[in-house]
Amino acid sequence: MKKEVVIAGGGLAGLSLAIGLRRRGVPVVVHEAGRYPRHRVCGEFISGVGDDTLEALGIAGDLDDAIRHRAMRWFREGREILTGELPEPARGISRWLLDLRLKERLIKEGGRVVEASRLARDADEGVVWAAGRLPRRSPWVGLKCHLKEFAMEDGLEMHLGKHGYLGLTPIEDGRVNVCGLFKVDRSLQGKGSDLLLAYLEHGGHEDLADRIRAADRDESSFSGVAGFELGWQDGGEDLCAVGDASGMIPPFTGNGMSMAFESAEIALDPLEQWALGERDWRQVIVAINRASRRRFRRRVGSAMKLHQFLLHARGQDLIEAISTRGLLPIRPLISLVR
Ligand SMILES: Cc1cc2nc3c(=O)[nH]c(=O)nc-3n(C[C@H](O)[C@H](O)[C@H](O)COP(=O)(O)OP(=O)(O)OC[C@H]3O[C@@H](n4cnc5c(N)ncnc54)[C@H](O)[C@@H]3O)c2cc1C
Repeated sequence: MKKEVVIAGGGLAGLSLAIGLRRRGVPVVVHEAGRYPRHRVCGEFISGVGDDTLEALGIAGDLDDAIRHRAMRWFREGREILTGELPEPARGISRWLLDLRLKERLIKEGGRVVEASRLARDADEGVVWAAGRLPRRSPWVGLKCHLKEFAMEDGLEMHLGKHGYLGLTPIEDGRVNVCGLFKVDRSLQGKGSDLLLAYLEHGGHEDLADRIRAADRDESSFSGVAGFELGWQDGGEDLCAVGDASGMIPPFTGNGMSMAFESAEIALDPLEQWALGERDWRQVIVAINRASRRRFRRRVGSAMKLHQFLLHARGQDLIEAISTRGLLPIRPLISLVR
């Protein structure tokens, strides 16, 4: 008899961990505060995750048809400052589709999912906290919307502006996801995607705002989130946390979803051993925290520094100057945040 693992949060970390555990015969229940399918604030491009991680979790097939992106173009307030290629292709797929697929995969594997069930943040034995970034007062707002009939070249677009940055990612069904992270400005008003357009214009992205206005915006996909901080979340040493609940890498890296999968992979062995009665709960938490810090310390630290750079005019000046001379070391920079 194996003990049941309870997972709070049915995002990518919680669902993929649950699937991985089910494939090892561990009983699992996921409590998800929302209902599927649902849109989430996310750039929807997955970069840096290895096939071995997806296979260890048993979800490689669920990402097979994601659009592969290799090309990337960076802009600063409308000026193109960099074109390049990712060392490994990123995957473009909506959270609407991916989270639903993983929920269905989990049920097929014999797991249970309880929707509209919000658990309290208690450090109980057998409970894994996969409920995303911890609520905090912060200067950030994230906004996203899907566009139909939006003209763009293949690959990804990143746009740096005065008060944040945003990415454009082609996803399934000919759609493009636009998603940005901005400094909150309460003077900016707008309903749905008009609020996103207000942030774009405020940040110096008038041309991009015009391109988006000309497209067909799917208002039902518009989502916003505020009240979160980037970096390590420090939910307490007694909490068994995975995914963003443990640490959130700045979104320009496109690596947050990869980290969610990788942290689920890290948690598989210790949780299976607990379920078999071979490890006590305290040892499980220590093992997961140690392995997570070891695996993610460098990339989170580097990304936090680069993020500051990308947000400030002087940092952007420097990037633009180096990049337009063709001297930006793209591959080493990317490998720092992977
Ligand atoms: C603006 C922005 C853009 C981003 N762009 C990208 C990108 O392009 N690429 C990338 O890889 N990453 C990106 N990220 C990060 C990425 O979205 C996260 O790293 C990823 O979603 C983490 O997955 P998770 O499962 O840990 O958390 P989540 O996906 O947040 O899932 C947590 C789940 O827990 C549920 N929940 C919350 N509280 C409770 C509770 N008390 N009880 C039960 N359930 C609960 C929530 O409803 C949610 O479904 C972006 C983030 C932001 C803010």
